Amino acid sequence: MTRPRVLFVNHSSLLSGAELVLADAVGPWRGATAFLFEDGPLAAALAARGLAVEQAGMGRALAGLRRDSSPLRALPLAGRLAALTLALAGHARRHDLVYANSQKAFILAALATAAVRRPLIWHLHDILDPVHFGPAQRRLQIGLAHARAARVVVPSAAVAESFVAAGGRRDLLTVVPNGLDVIPDPRPRSELRRALGLPEGPLVGAFSRLAPWKGQHVLLRALARLPGVHGVVAGSALFGEDAYAAELEGLAATLGLAGRLTFLGQRSDVPRLMQAMDVVVHPSIHPEPFGRTLVEAMLAGVPVVATDAGAAAEILDGGRAGTLVPPDDPAALAAALARILAGEAAPAAAVAVARTRARTLYPVGRMQDEIAGIIGRVAREARA
Ligand code: UDP
Repeated sequence: MTRPRVLFVNHSSLLSGAELVLADAVGPWRGATAFLFEDGPLAAALAARGLAVEQAGMGRALAGLRRDSSPLRALPLAGRLAALTLALAGHARRHDLVYANSQKAFILAALATAAVRRPLIWHLHDILDPVHFGPAQRRLQIGLAHARAARVVVPSAAVAESFVAAGGRRDLLTVVPNGLDVIPDPRPRSELRRALGLPEGPLVGAFSRLAPWKGQHVLLRALARLPGVHGVVAGSALFGEDAYAAELEGLAATLGLAGRLTFLGQRSDVPRLMQAMDVVVHPSIHPEPFGRTLVEAMLAGVPVVATDAGAAAEILDGGRAGTLVPPDDPAALAAALARILAGEAAPAAAVAVARTRARTLYPVGRMQDEIAGIIGRVAREARA
């Protein structure tokens, strides 16, 4: 059987976790097409992997549509959305199957593929709960999933359960954990720190885009309780959370963290930075759909402290591969960090468990094979 002609679709071209997953997932799909609503680093990443990248060039306006707002907010953009959907339908017609990697992409792809009768796979990367999506958004997504999705790929049981809780059909779901391959830097921690310009002494870091639900403020409040401990916060406000970024800087000043907290901005060397830490912290205050950051920390061979919400417990094996603390609780986070930094907790065993677990369960090849299998099955069923 010949390989199906796949059209991968994503609305954003910025590199948050979902886009990094897509860039990894398309590894075996050299020669396939990607349709993006805007230009940006994802376009370059996909082109570097041998995909033909088509850009709508009119999707920037969509970035302003918050996912928790009513779909009626999209009305003033109706003309552009219709043009985008038509362009998408034109590309879909020349392919056997459409693979939508973001929820905005899925909504438009659902309409486009209905018009040209092509099967559609939705890779859902988000927890479909009221924290992130308004009720009308959730109804729309579930309705379109039932009407149009041949399969809904999710990265964790946490996302699967949120889809079902929002009214989604369980039989549509396949859990495919995100996969990551990281080549470790051979240099010892002290040498890495010098090379990266990081301070000596106890050092903890968080490595996520800046957004209120990612909880960087909880780390800052925990650091305020840990004199002598330095912190780094990598990441930027990718999706317009600039007010939160400014708030974090203000909070650091208020808490008197000047001199022992560094904001690194958006980095492209996160795994190496993680290797230079004593502890990696993942302080999300709402359930995490997956958390590539967690797996990167496990592969870096560094103790991880994460909040016990969403997929973190799945990935950290209920706490055997890292320390779980309650969300939004700076005192609990500070206590966990203090125990690890003082050598009172024994993280070496957890670090070894974590590394083996990450290498076994979350290699990129496994994710690519599972996604290719799903694409192949859906394409075959559509031909039958
Ligand atoms: N990341 C990055 N540079 C930064 C901060 C984060 O490249 O400065 C990467 C991080 O290494 C991870 C991804 O962004 O691979 C975030 O994925 P995750 O699933 O943790 O969160 P999401 O952004 O999807 O909510």
